[in-house]
Amino acid sequence: MSDAPKKKSVCMICGKPSPKTICVACAGIVQGDALHHKKKDEKKK
Ligand SMILES: [Zn+2]
Repeated sequence: MSDAPKKKSVCMICGKPSPKTICVACAGIVQGDALHHKKKDEKKK
């Protein structure tokens, strides 16, 4: 038990355990979504 994590790292999007703030899966979704929104909502609001 020397590897017990003191801080629980979870994805801030899906809440699943992840070494990063945003897990790879969510990062891809967010990035893709952002790109989509940027292209779609360029002038529309
Ligand atoms: Zn996630």
